[in-house]
Amino acid sequence: MIITKKVLRNVSLTAHPQGCAQYVQDQIDWVQAHAHASLDSRYQKCDDLKLPRRILVLGGSTGYGLSSRIVGAFGSGSDTINVSFEREPSQTKTATPGWYNTMAFEKRAKEAGLKAESIFGDAFSDETKQKTGALIKSLFGQVDLVIYSLASPLRTDPKTGTTYRSVLKPLGKPFSALSVDMDCDVVKMATIEPAEGTQAEETVHVMGGEDWALWIEYLMQENLLAEGAMTVSYSYIGPKITYPVYREGTIGKAKEDLEKTAAELTKKLQQIQGKAYVSVNKALVTRASAVIPVVPLYMAILYQVMKERDLHEHCTEQIYRLFTEKLFSGKQIPTDDEGRVRVDDWEMQDDIQAEVERRWALQKEGEPLKDADIEGVRKEYDQIHGFGFDSIDYEKDVDPRDIY
Ligand code: NAD
Repeated sequence: MIITKKVLRNVSLTAHPQGCAQYVQDQIDWVQAHAHASLDSRYQKCDDLKLPRRILVLGGSTGYGLSSRIVGAFGSGSDTINVSFEREPSQTKTATPGWYNTMAFEKRAKEAGLKAESIFGDAFSDETKQKTGALIKSLFGQVDLVIYSLASPLRTDPKTGTTYRSVLKPLGKPFSALSVDMDCDVVKMATIEPAEGTQAEETVHVMGGEDWALWIEYLMQENLLAEGAMTVSYSYIGPKITYPVYREGTIGKAKEDLEKTAAELTKKLQQIQGKAYVSVNKALVTRASAVIPVVPLYMAILYQVMKERDLHEHCTEQIYRLFTEKLFSGKQIPTDDEGRVRVDDWEMQDDIQAEVERRWALQKEGEPLKDADIEGVRKEYDQIHGFGFDSIDYEKDVDPRDIY
């Protein structure tokens, strides 16, 4: 079939197998180039560092989780297990990008002599935890690092069977702000109604720390965490402009809970000299972030400002810096006053934020976006679904079940 891009309300319905493989390959190439040579003074080599050998990534098929897998494997030869929720391809329907990414990654990792396996299933369920535990036992014995990088619209509590839904809404009152859609350059006004009833609590059940804690408790109980093991989950803070819908909204409550969970897990992990951290990462186009209202407009301005100053990073560059400079540099792990690791440091620099605010004020409803890089945001969005690569002939008939 000829696979074309189909996007509905900022959600891509298709993915290209060859393009997803190209996306994975590009990130592997970047990591390999920087891991062994001093190409850029901002990124140190992995050669002299002690990165964890056996890594479990929960949500390792796209975005920050996939990058965590790639940096571990191709930065320092780590073996990895991924747990993610994917749709397989059929003769007439494409798989999710995460499925293609995983196939492409594991093919390359195995060719490089690394162990790389996946469990496709609902990470929130007891069954997936048990299957993953059995795989860790047979493949690694134990793991040294657990990355928790799930982004999901819903979660079924394994104990009660209750299904909770996460929403991206402000709290208390409606929030109106300028926004832009991925497929249109014209700025529009978006109004988001506040969360109702139990929506805020439900979002905490889905995107907070509850399931992260269940994973770590399960792995500890089964003796699957090595002495000194670390676990890291990803969070976001962002600028004041997006506070009402992000940090002070329903998702912000969930992120606060996640950050609180890190402290609780660190206490539990003391038994094995382990530690839990939350890393606050930069705003980047992923399948999860593209659907947050107002965020694509912020990202378009931010990308332009950071690119002009040569500070723009992709997920892989962020995770590379997180691993090499913050978590495994051999020095004390730098944290903010609340114990969080910050790789959003470049995004949150005063000069960057002042310029973003200045350009935000230039935008007018009904007019095309000004001084912003919506093209760059769009290109990244296309590429995370395997589209927009010059090297690929998108007119060519491909079998969506083929692995590249
Ligand atoms: P993403 O959509 O690219 O990845 C989400 C991952 O979760 C995928 O691997 C998906 O398969 C997996 N997943 C979802 N539901 C699942 C389920 N039920 N069972 C198993 N796997 C499931 O998202 P992302 O943007 O990389 O987000 C990952 C984390 O990083 C989130 O906590 C997010 O808040 C955080 N973060 C994102 C940004 C950003 O701008 N994208 C910035 C900072 C922090």
